[in-house]
Amino acid sequence: MGLFSTGKHAYWIQHTHFFHADVYECSSCGREFDNRYKKCPNCGAEMDRGDLDWVDEFAMFDAFFED
Ligand SMILES: [Zn+2]
Repeated sequence: MGLFSTGKHAYWIQHTHFFHADVYECSSCGREFDNRYKKCPNCGAEMDRGDLDWVDEFAMFDAFFED
């Protein structure tokens, strides 16, 4: 588990554009990329976004057993 991760954490700020693909801005260094990488390729910050998928999955699992 990454409770005591040594790396810094950040998240992607999505910028939606009408005439070209969305870009994702690193909340740590402000660089923009066309993909939501697990880590920022520029500053190396770990992105917390991925954890949300895991939580959602776990909630579904939990509901399955309550039924
Ligand atoms: Zn960055």
